[in-house]
Amino acid sequence: MLALRILITEDDNVSALLLKKALEKNNHEIVGVAATGEEALNFLDDSEVDLVMMDINLGGDLDGIKTTEIINEKYDIPVVYLTASSDEDTLQKIAGTNPSAYVIKPFNIRELNMMIELAIFKDKKEKELQKLNNELEEKVKQRTADLNEANKELKKALEKEREIGELKSRIVQNVSHGFKTPLTSILSSAQLLQIYAEKDHPFRQKIAKHSKKIENSVRSLNNLLTSVLFFGKADANKIDYKPARFFTTPFFNELLDVVKANNDNEVTITTDFVNVPKSIKSDAELLYQVFENLLSNALKYSKKNGHVDFKVEMKENTLFIEIKDDGIGIPKKEQDQLFDRFFRAKNVGITEGSGLGLSIVKKCMDVMHGEIEVESDSGKGSTFNLKIPLG
Ligand code: ADP
Repeated sequence: MLALRILITEDDNVSALLLKKALEKNNHEIVGVAATGEEALNFLDDSEVDLVMMDINLGGDLDGIKTTEIINEKYDIPVVYLTASSDEDTLQKIAGTNPSAYVIKPFNIRELNMMIELAIFKDKKEKELQKLNNELEEKVKQRTADLNEANKELKKALEKEREIGELKSRIVQNVSHGFKTPLTSILSSAQLLQIYAEKDHPFRQKIAKHSKKIENSVRSLNNLLTSVLFFGKADANKIDYKPARFFTTPFFNELLDVVKANNDNEVTITTDFVNVPKSIKSDAELLYQVFENLLSNALKYSKKNGHVDFKVEMKENTLFIEIKDDGIGIPKKEQDQLFDRFFRAKNVGITEGSGLGLSIVKKCMDVMHGEIEVESDSGKGSTFNLKIPLG
């Protein structure tokens, strides 16, 4: 067993002597014998001690329990109590000071040794535990600091991403608007050229052909920009349903004029308006986007001299629309992506497009709480059925 430097605190000389002998027999060194608590504390101030044997009932101001409390606080040295009584009251008081062990007098040497070993073992374990605890606390502190740092970085990155997103949409909006004005003037110049070419110019056929080309390119660029602008707004959640009463005849006339202006395939459009009142209350801009995109597609994906039916019926304050073509159709297995941005079916061939039109249609239909269904297959034409509540 380990040889320890032990301080005995005992006011009874005979008991102190017996204890000293017993401990020395076990190779421990008795570094001092104190008769009072104060003496013991003075001793600990000046000497190195591994263990204190402490009588509970000491004379003087400090009894064994109070002295132990001070030792625990100031010196962190294990204490083994010596007590003559094992009554409940005393044991309770002893437990309150968390002693390393206690020995009830009279003791035998074996018992004494066991208690000392227990005290040293307990003290060692407590110190290890304390060390672990400290390390753990340090780790927790470090991890918390790391986490806070990571959190700060994440916040910064998110803020940057938000700023970049805003900047991107502002650039898209500005550039698109900037494009639109010159495009409009190019378009009207091309149209004027066509009118002049109708007169007696020797190259009038060539002028007409090229101005038509310019017009078509400008129109498709213009459509693309309109789509980009629309998504800029949609992504910023700025597409709202703004219903207002408007006249249906000028609305549909303008729509059909614009759509027919792009009718390269010379497709016939048959319209059928059933119970459509003179004026309706809805969001004319959203309705226009929906019809314009669907009708343009119907013409664009038709074969030469094909046929498109455009039917609008009003029932119970709801518009029922059918747009039917006998064109190239949409392959069944690709139809689940039909309303995704940039989707283009494999059978489009050289027909130009951005893959944005139908996703705009879908967004507008959602905003208007409408429904849209497609019946189509490759080579079998397409029919789009819509249901749009009004008001
Ligand atoms: P795009 O600019 O390519 O026409 P859309 O979003 O309007 O983009 O349409 C997406 C795709 O859906 C088209 O590329 C085409 O493959 C298919 N599609 C849409 N309408 C029709 C139609 N009426 N007939 C055949 N295919 C169509």
